[in-house]
Amino acid sequence: MSSLTGRTALVTGGSRGMGAAIALRLAQEGADVAITYVHSEAAAQEVVAKIEATGRRGFAVRADAADAGDAAGAVERAADDLGHLDILVNNAGIGVLGPLADLSLADVDRVLAVNVRGVLLASQAAAGRLRDGGRIITIGSCMAQRVPGPGGALYATSKAALIGLNKALARELGGRRITANLVQPGPIDTDMNPADGPYAEGQSAMTALGRFGSADEVASLVAYLAGDEAAYITGTELSVDGGHAA
Ligand code: NDP
Repeated sequence: MSSLTGRTALVTGGSRGMGAAIALRLAQEGADVAITYVHSEAAAQEVVAKIEATGRRGFAVRADAADAGDAAGAVERAADDLGHLDILVNNAGIGVLGPLADLSLADVDRVLAVNVRGVLLASQAAAGRLRDGGRIITIGSCMAQRVPGPGGALYATSKAALIGLNKALARELGGRRITANLVQPGPIDTDMNPADGPYAEGQSAMTALGRFGSADEVASLVAYLAGDEAAYITGTELSVDGGHAA
């Protein structure tokens, strides 16, 4: 029996990158998995097909994390359609990097709506639906710990906010054995941050291991946190960053 047999999960932003890898890994561990996406319907359906190829149930919901109704509604839909909810992975996120002076109000509102408000609202909805012993796992960023150069004000602000939220969730939900943890990836090879992109070399050099990580390397930590063996880990930040913060 796999470690997540009988569990159900919602992974936000599961159509590509880390979210897709996390959704597939949770299914491989035995969970039925719903994902959200906002633009990439075809990619989302490919992830669903891969989930179903493991023998688990999968489905995709179009839900914009920046929309308050969608953020909470995706949780309700996943819990209703899967029968119950055990695991919420708050993965959907966007990055707007650039000089402080160039940030528009629309940039600020959009990034905070997706990366912070959407996570808070999804977690609030999940708190009402998660079974006892459930999991809230949120994907933050190494930039909440170390901002390696100019241009990170908005993104780092959004990811640092998750540190407080995560601790508060752990305190609020611990009585029901629900754990809340924040995973802080370093540079991970995805569409958002390709390992052959213009800033890749500098990012690799900032890690102790001298390379980008893969989405699968993040997914394995998330799968561990989702499982029974991580039952006593809560309210903490875990880096999977190749030593970026070392
Ligand atoms: P990608 O850009 O590769 O994928 C983002 C995923 O999130 C896609 O599935 C996308 O859906 C979805 N998404 C984007 N905006 C929304 C939204 N408003 N509502 C719902 N879904 C949305 O990103 P990564 O996989 O690289 O990033 C995943 C998480 O990890 C993010 O929170 C990011 O901030 C964080 N992170 C990334 C790092 C990296 O180096 N890559 C480093 C540290 C943290 P669609 O396909 O429909 O657009």
